[in-house]
Amino acid sequence: MPLTQAQWQQRASQLSFETRAYLDGEFTHAASGKTFPSLNPATGDTLAQVARCEAPEAERAVACARAAFDKGDWSRLAPAARKRTLLHLAELIAEHQQELALLDTLDMGKPITSALGDVASAIECLRYTAESLDKLYGQVAPTGEEALGLIVREPLGVVVSIVPWNFPLMMTIWKIAPALATGNSVILKPSEKSSLSALRLAQLIALTEIPKGVFQVLPGFGTDVGKALALSMQVDAIAFTGSTQVGKLLTQYAGQSNLKRTFLECGGKSPNIVFEDCADIPCVARQAAAAIFHNQGEVCIAGSRLLVHNRIREPFVRALCEAARSMQPGDPLDPQSFMGAIVDQEQYDKIASYIALGEQQGARREAIITDDNRQVEGCFIAPTIFTGVTADMAIANEEIFGPVLAVMGFDDEEEAIAIANDSDYGLAAGLWSQDVNRVIRVARRLQSGQVYINNWAGPDMTMPFGGVKQSGNGRDKSLQTLGEYTETKSIWLAIT
Ligand code: NAD
Repeated sequence: MPLTQAQWQQRASQLSFETRAYLDGEFTHAASGKTFPSLNPATGDTLAQVARCEAPEAERAVACARAAFDKGDWSRLAPAARKRTLLHLAELIAEHQQELALLDTLDMGKPITSALGDVASAIECLRYTAESLDKLYGQVAPTGEEALGLIVREPLGVVVSIVPWNFPLMMTIWKIAPALATGNSVILKPSEKSSLSALRLAQLIALTEIPKGVFQVLPGFGTDVGKALALSMQVDAIAFTGSTQVGKLLTQYAGQSNLKRTFLECGGKSPNIVFEDCADIPCVARQAAAAIFHNQGEVCIAGSRLLVHNRIREPFVRALCEAARSMQPGDPLDPQSFMGAIVDQEQYDKIASYIALGEQQGARREAIITDDNRQVEGCFIAPTIFTGVTADMAIANEEIFGPVLAVMGFDDEEEAIAIANDSDYGLAAGLWSQDVNRVIRVARRLQSGQVYINNWAGPDMTMPFGGVKQSGNGRDKSLQTLGEYTETKSIWLAIT
């Protein structure tokens, strides 16, 4: 039986938070004693003071991770045994899914219904990855009879996972599941805007047979603990999800230190292209609205550029505005809320400044809702749709990471492809048409890590997820990700 808003509020009032780092198998305060506040953006309340880890904690964690890796209790454990442990972890997460969802909702403002979906996806990812790990085989090379050539895959060593705040638990599991599955030691650096579910996860991991030092969590700021980890000479890889700007810094840190691998999942400005023969305008408009307004638009694959064929543009925009009216922000603890609160004041101000810039640069802001219609006070922004957008405007080019949609028209397929590809990013793209030849033709020409045809964000665990161009180079999910966290070793045995 789903909980009501009042029941969620009551649970929230009874929650207690783990706020200490998880280092070398112990929960511990930062050596400096420093903390930083975790705020609920829907109310402005301080939820907790979280340990602020810095370079000394980074150094200690890396040494513990390296020692655990070299000891081999996890890195050399039989895959079937690692599988059992990770499936146990999935069960523990499933037992605590409401609590984990509540932590993400309180910490970063997403609606509780979305947060529950995220936890379900995290569990699915962990189970899929655990079930896959003992079904991967190495290869025997086609050598001559004088040799046996074995190609085996080995864990990388110490992997640092640096994650953002928009899907705190789900992004964490996307990163740590394949890294742990393949035998690595993992240090997780959650976003300073959403550390609480990561620390609760550490409590659950402490209940499993994952050995001490194999999984650690260092809450703190990117510019100190994150940077220290990324510059470490003892870290073998950084698996990152976050902004393109920070992704570029991490590449530099890798070059300045030990040339560690960097898997980057970065930002996006994804085009959603609606052709004149789309199946059903109100239905497609609803899905196009959800593609940008879901999770308050704080989604890497948000369909933030809507390209509509000029022949249907006017009725489509009318249907879009109608759909957006039913997607208003509300109390994140209300299971009926479609959107929740923006993560913090800084992000709110950034989004508000893009809305102001859109108006200044001459785009037309469609009337969706006024401030009078707001259901709650706090860091909330209503769905915002701009029409009359041109390619040179900031709202057409830059990632806003909020509920702001730029609508542009086009006259033919070539023009749609040109506008779609005219971006530094290449994370996702959508196509809506009933012409099967056209959708395949266009899908092949789009510079994008994923293309959704007559849906948005469809893929399940079986499909890789990641970008091209400045959206990054890594891949999460699917069997492919297990390959990313391993190194190939060639073993040549001479036969005499
Ligand atoms: P961000 O880049 O500001 O921060 C991400 C993480 O990097 C945080 O943990 C932060 O503390 C850390 N960090 C910041 N500076 C650092 C530094 N100098 N050294 C080491 N670590 C540092 O991003 P954000 O605001 O948390 O998240 C929003 C961004 O994430 C958006 O651009 C969004 O598109 C992107 N994102 C991408 C995907 C994807 O799969 N491609 C998924 C979700 C979010």
